[in-house]
Amino acid sequence: MFLKTIDFSKYSSIKVGQPTEVLMIEKEDEIPNDRYLIGGANNLLLSPTPPPLIMLSKDFSYIKNENGFLTIGAATPSGRIVSYAKKHNIAGFEFCAKLPGMLGGLLAMNAGVKEYEIFNILDAIEIEGKWIAKDAIPHGYRYAKLGGIATAARFKIQQGYSQALNDTLQALRANQPKEPSAGSAFKNPVGDSAGRLIEAVGLKGVQRGGMAWSTIHANFLVNLGGGTYEESLYLLTLAKERVLELFNVVLEEEIKLL
Ligand SMILES: Cc1cc2nc3c(=O)[nH]c(=O)nc-3n(C[C@H](O)[C@H](O)[C@H](O)COP(=O)(O)OP(=O)(O)OC[C@H]3O[C@@H](n4cnc5c(N)ncnc54)[C@H](O)[C@@H]3O)c2cc1C
Repeated sequence: MFLKTIDFSKYSSIKVGQPTEVLMIEKEDEIPNDRYLIGGANNLLLSPTPPPLIMLSKDFSYIKNENGFLTIGAATPSGRIVSYAKKHNIAGFEFCAKLPGMLGGLLAMNAGVKEYEIFNILDAIEIEGKWIAKDAIPHGYRYAKLGGIATAARFKIQQGYSQALNDTLQALRANQPKEPSAGSAFKNPVGDSAGRLIEAVGLKGVQRGGMAWSTIHANFLVNLGGGTYEESLYLLTLAKERVLELFNVVLEEEIKLL
């Protein structure tokens, strides 16, 4: 293992944070369990005082095709997985096109688009050296209880990458803002949409310093330039308070606050 300084104002998708030391884990290392693991930082917001961090090094970025299964390392970027699936005509990964993250992050968030989620196509996850079948892992909408650090996952190979499905799902996200964000800020409450609620309480487009609720999709907290953690937290808290007051709905963050 080795220490690496990562500037989160550049590395994280929302471009918030500061240069921070991250412990990089290599293949032969025992993974420490007293640090917070990050992947591609596409779904998180770093505070000025984050917990000690770790990250899987590129030793964990690989795709192996053996015995009818794909085994993919947890630090493999989604883009690489989609390219591989396209090239080898493998079905199931179409929804990952333009869904930013590493496989570990996709698993921990049970990332997906509409009814297409990573757990749908999953066979098993290697968690700290032990293979665990999908059915033994509690999971649901944008949530999975991995119980440890995923180092790899296995998927049964189904033939037939669908470019049409890829294009349809990509078109669905054409309404996502182009400014830096961490994806959806809140999970959708059952039977409703967090974006609709944020808009209904008058926060769509509302700005605080460099951060704002997007004018394009109200559930996206966007960085218009130089935005900070404090400004983000202010807008998140304001949305939660107003939605609770006016609709009696508790919004739950999808993004992780570190
Ligand atoms: C523009 C934009 C659009 C997006 N659209 C979508 C969308 O349509 N659907 C969707 O689901 N998401 C979307 N997201 C969110 C993001 O793409 C996903 O949550 C993705 O899974 C994050 O992966 P990551 O590697 O960046 O994880 P990080 O943000 O680094 O981490 C997220 C969580 O995963 C945990 N984690 C990471 N790696 C591991 C591991 N190996 N083992 C255990 N836990 C781990 C972390 O501890 C953390 O709790 C979007 C994000 C952006 C910026």
